Amino acid sequence: LSLITPQQKQRLQIGPRTQRQQGNTSDPFDPLSVIKPFIFSQYKPILLGWLCSLFSVLSLSQLVPKFGQLSSSIGKIDGITLRNDGLVLAGLFLAKLIATYGQHAFLWEAALNASYKIRVFVFERVLERELAFFEGGGAVSSGDVAYRITAEAADVADTVYALLNTIVPSALQLSAMASRMLVISPVLSLISAMVIPCTALAIAYLGTRLRKVSKKAKLSISALSAYLNEVLPAILFVKANNAEFCEVARFERLANADLSTLLTKRKMKAFIPQIVQIIYFGALSILCVGSMVVSSGCFDGCSMVSFITSLIFVVEPIQDVGKAYNEWKQGEPAIERLFDLTRFKSKVTEKPDAVDLDHVSGDVKFCDISFRYGENSPLVLNGLNLHIKAGETVALVGPSGGGKTTLIKMLLRLYDPLNGCILVDNQNIQNVQLESLRRHVGTIAENIGYRDIMNKIDMEKVELAAQTANADEFIGKLPKGYQTNIGPRGSSLSGGQKQRLAIARALYQDSSILILDEATSALDSRSELLVRQAVQRLMENHTVLVIAHRLETVLMAKRVFLLDDGKLQELTPSLLGSHNSSLTSTGLVI
Ligand code: ADP
Ligand code: MG
Repeated sequence: LSLITPQQKQRLQIGPRTQRQQGNTSDPFDPLSVIKPFIFSQYKPILLGWLCSLFSVLSLSQLVPKFGQLSSSIGKIDGITLRNDGLVLAGLFLAKLIATYGQHAFLWEAALNASYKIRVFVFERVLERELAFFEGGGAVSSGDVAYRITAEAADVADTVYALLNTIVPSALQLSAMASRMLVISPVLSLISAMVIPCTALAIAYLGTRLRKVSKKAKLSISALSAYLNEVLPAILFVKANNAEFCEVARFERLANADLSTLLTKRKMKAFIPQIVQIIYFGALSILCVGSMVVSSGCFDGCSMVSFITSLIFVVEPIQDVGKAYNEWKQGEPAIERLFDLTRFKSKVTEKPDAVDLDHVSGDVKFCDISFRYGENSPLVLNGLNLHIKAGETVALVGPSGGGKTTLIKMLLRLYDPLNGCILVDNQNIQNVQLESLRRHVGTIAENIGYRDIMNKIDMEKVELAAQTANADEFIGKLPKGYQTNIGPRGSSLSGGQKQRLAIARALYQDSSILILDEATSALDSRSELLVRQAVQRLMENHTVLVIAHRLETVLMAKRVFLLDDGKLQELTPSLLGSHNSSLTSTGLVI
């Protein structure tokens, strides 16, 4: 899926090996150099588009003098010559139409392909980011990420198109028409040229303002999109709390925020082409001067018509340059925000010589683990030690927020510990390929065949896993059985069904170490019994770490540990008995 080569990544200076820090805004950021490799990869349609534009300009430069000749000779030449000249003119015109169409079609193809590649590249890099980026309450919400990858990548396509359509085609047309004007009359050309620098300066000034306004507009739109991404998935909660009116008010506030910014942006965009039109005023003055020159006899009517027509076609590319400048100024913030997602230095990294764990018996050792989420936050784990032997089932209990899930995140290397190390089969997980580690440690998520999405799903294995996990019965009752779409995050399933499906998935995956993080919490007793049966079957040939609320689930484990205050304490059967009442009465969960 990787669309650009590692060398290109390196050159872009946005790979994980670089020293750039995410969100370091003082970093010089050059939007053009960042998107260049993606544009260059589209050299074929670009060259074809530019070739078409060359044909278009060639036919235009034939068309203009012919038109001048024809219009000044009406009434002076015979009908046949007039008809023939007319036909040539029509042919040239048609050629220009076709060539211009080809130019736009090819250049759009290049721009959209480049933006598609940028999109995939950014998404790939976003998924490579460590968990802290997504759950740290960091600077970028997932709604914002979604907005950048959808809407802003589309803006980039517009920008790339505008650039491609300006660089060569406009320059060609401009130089062809301007040189024609110069040949016809250097004096008149000079007069017309005088207006151009003034308009260019005005456009440049407005472009800088436009960039700022565009950036502001993007921020407010993405805030709106982030808000929607947050509130729509929580619709059940909103309705149950009668909070619709609050949400409408919040939405109105956010939607209103970008109203004035958007209007300013639109006004500016409408104004810039008008400035270019000033050049037409120049044309008018030339017409006056020109008619004097014609009447004084040093200039004929034919040249005059050619000159004015050329002038009109000179304004067109200048206008395009103005528009492209507009687009670029709007595109810059989009490119910056999009590529900002890819500029990071991961804390969880894979060593170049990391090993692929082929087979794992399931021996897990936590040695002296300490961890905190932020630099100034308190220690969640504080010198924790735990040895789980292969095939053993261990339960972990403790107060909510005690760090049980955090410990699992350490084992999966979603975060690295501050101190200490974790060994799987006596191999430090820091020296193991991430993919290989996460393959051997199964956690509960998604549906049974999830990881096999790209490959072929083995239905027999799926059904066997579902039977072992006590999930086959309810799957059989679903409208389309194993082919049923269970909605995002299994929203159409009950808690117990989701848990059993997740256990089935862990089984399907052949992970030797299985983690059940509160798998039986919030289940009714029948569902819990079914889940517990499934877990019991798992225990026969897996290393299992159960994090549990319920006493029944905990009692299935050989050893039970209490995680509190960042430290572990083993609860022996007698301790467990004596702790039982105190644990529940102090609000600790078992
Ligand atoms: P448990 O699973 O035992 O209920 P957790 O491991 O989820 O507890 O959380 C332990 C502590 O770490 C809690 O105080 C929680 O607020 C904090 N915490 C969890 N995840 C994050 C995070 N991504 N960023 C900052 N703090 C976190
Ligand atoms: Mg937890």
